[in-house]
Amino acid sequence: MSDSGSGWYDETLHKDVAQRLRMGRVLHRDRTGLQDLVIFENPVLGRVMALDGVVQTTEGDEFVYHEMLTHVPILAHGRVRRVLIVGGGDGGMLRRCLEHKAVERVTMVEIDRSVVDLSIAHLPSISAGAFDDPRTDLVIADGCAFVKNKGVKETAERFDVIIVDSTDPHGPGAVLFTEEFYADCKARLTPGGVMVTQNGVPFLQPGELKDSHRRLGRLFGDAGFFVAPVPSYYGGFMAFGWATDDAALRRQSAEAIRPRFEAAGLTTRYYTPDIHVASFALPAFMLDALK
Ligand code: SAM
Repeated sequence: MSDSGSGWYDETLHKDVAQRLRMGRVLHRDRTGLQDLVIFENPVLGRVMALDGVVQTTEGDEFVYHEMLTHVPILAHGRVRRVLIVGGGDGGMLRRCLEHKAVERVTMVEIDRSVVDLSIAHLPSISAGAFDDPRTDLVIADGCAFVKNKGVKETAERFDVIIVDSTDPHGPGAVLFTEEFYADCKARLTPGGVMVTQNGVPFLQPGELKDSHRRLGRLFGDAGFFVAPVPSYYGGFMAFGWATDDAALRRQSAEAIRPRFEAAGLTTRYYTPDIHVASFALPAFMLDALK
């Protein structure tokens, strides 16, 4: 139980450390049929959504996570037309992908319809109308089944960028960290495409980092990570998985990225071309863990 009735929300993701957020007005709290979902107000972070005891997104700091997991792969690739988002129920990832006017379609495969509906109702600033964009293709299904292309909206469609915006590897999100899922994602990428993933906080979840690195490394020519500090993801900066067969994609200079950023006309609060490049510089403890 993540709310001791003390007016605080206690996260339950980690065994020996935890963050707690003051719970102001509770806008929704219920089991969706798949997950425990709560949306509440916090004086610092604004509205907060948590699933199964883990903070998913907050109005106050969602920009860091969503800008980095979209603009880094899309601007590195340079010619993105089709994007697949697996998860992403709050719509923040979808919104940032759609800010790229050259993107023709974003398919978003979210397993829990309630997360979408409640995010639109109580966290409208995060999706900001993205679900109504004619380029949006929302599919309510298990992302694992979708990329396997069996029984869920079977298409021959391939994607230039795949963004795995999942919960942590437990509950419905567990399948989105498996080698089988990554292999099926690879089969859905166009040549030179790139997949990025939510890969936890390496200081507290080193096992998740190593597992993903091993699994992605077996499938892709270039598997690595980039990082960004998301204040409400407790424990230091968050790691994002990076997987592609085009090793040059993550080695571009800020001078190469900057014209694309400017041409896209993006308004950002965290992402810059220099941050883009710097985000791939990993600290020694991560490099050691990945040896
Ligand atoms: N920013 C968050 C983080 O870093 O943990 C993730 C946010 S988003 C709310 C996570 C979404 O993944 C949720 O909406 C959840 O329903 C969805 N999800 C979990 N397992 C899934 C699966 N197997 N297929 C599709 N969506 C899934």
